Formats: sequence, structure tokens, C-alpha cells
Amino acid sequence: MKKNSERTCVTCSGVTEKASMLRWVNIKGTVSPDWMQKIEGRSVYTHFSRDCIEGLIMMKRLPSRFAEEFTGFASGKEETMAYVAEQAKRSLDHFISLSLKSGNLVKGQELITVHAKKGTRFKYCIAASDLSERTFSGIAGKLSIPVRRTSINKETLGLMIDGRPCGIFALYESELSEKVRFYLDLVENFISGDINAHQ
Ligand SMILES: [Zn+2]
Repeated sequence: MKKNSERTCVTCSGVTEKASMLRWVNIKGTVSPDWMQKIEGRSVYTHFSRDCIEGLIMMKRLPSRFAEEFTGFASGKEETMAYVAEQAKRSLDHFISLSLKSGNLVKGQELITVHAKKGTRFKYCIAASDLSERTFSGIAGKLSIPVRRTSINKETLGLMIDGRPCGIFALYESELSEKVRFYLDLVENFISGDINAHQ
């Protein structure tokens, strides 16, 4: 049975937590994505995958209750994908910054190593695409969790140490870390063109 916090994807009919889905709202006949899920109006949800987003935009007939006065989408396919990529990046920045402020995120090879030596258990360790192989394997050898190499480069990650871009960070187990992981996946998917953001 579907929980209160779950929604059905209007494109693929898959059921997922609505917090991990993209909400679409009909405002006076024009349908746009509602990133914060707060705009009043009739709405439907899709997964964040390119397939599901595209599926909605290309849909011949929208669900009748939602489609009232429908005149079109606020933006086309490519524009919408660019919008999702941009918003995903903003959300990633936001949750990385919150994680930093709250001490949930440890950045840089040195600090991660120090913490690992003290026996700190991290939930995730994430490396930029352009982190050197030496640094990568150096850290990987010291942690009990796998280090994930992303397709996002240092500059896009936006973390700095002493004025230089930092290519590796670790996260403790927390809700914030799950948010970082979620938006990291999204940014990766929308940068690389991969689909299947869900599941
Ligand atoms: Zn879907």
C-alpha cells in the first residue's frame, strides 16, 4: 500500500518517497517543475530520471484532473533538463555547506586520514573525478568504506582548502549526508546524461 509520503510517478507508475521525486504544478494552465514542492496548485510527480521527465513533457494526454485548462509546459525538454541540473547543483551546494557548518563533513586527505586513524567511522567518502590516483588509493587504504569516485570535478564540487580546490570529502551517518548523496547522484546523472536516478 502507498504511504502518505509516497507518490506515483505519472510517467512510469513507480511509487517512491515524494521527497525524492520532482513535483510538477499546473499554474493557470502552464505546467512547471516545482523544486521546493511548495507552490499551490494541482500537481503530479515524476522520478528525476530523464526518461520520466521526458515522458511527462511528451505525454499525449495528461491525467484529467491535473490537465484542467492546460495550455502547455513552461519550458521544453532540453530547457527542463538544464533547469533540473542547475537546481540539483544548487541543492548539492546547499547540503554540502550545511554539512560543513554542522561538522558532518570532513574535507581533504589530511583531515580524513587523521579522523580515520582515530577510528572515526564515516558513512560515505567521495572523490572528485580529477583527484589524483595516488591520493585516491592513499585514502582508500585507510578507510573501512569504499571511496566513491564521482564524475564531478573538483571545481564543480566547490570545496576549498587554503584557497585550493579540494577533491575529497567524507560524511558521517546523518540525514544531511543522505541529502548530499541524493543530490550528488542527481548532478552526476544530469551531467553525464545517464538515466535511472530512481531505484
Ligand atoms: Zn518514473
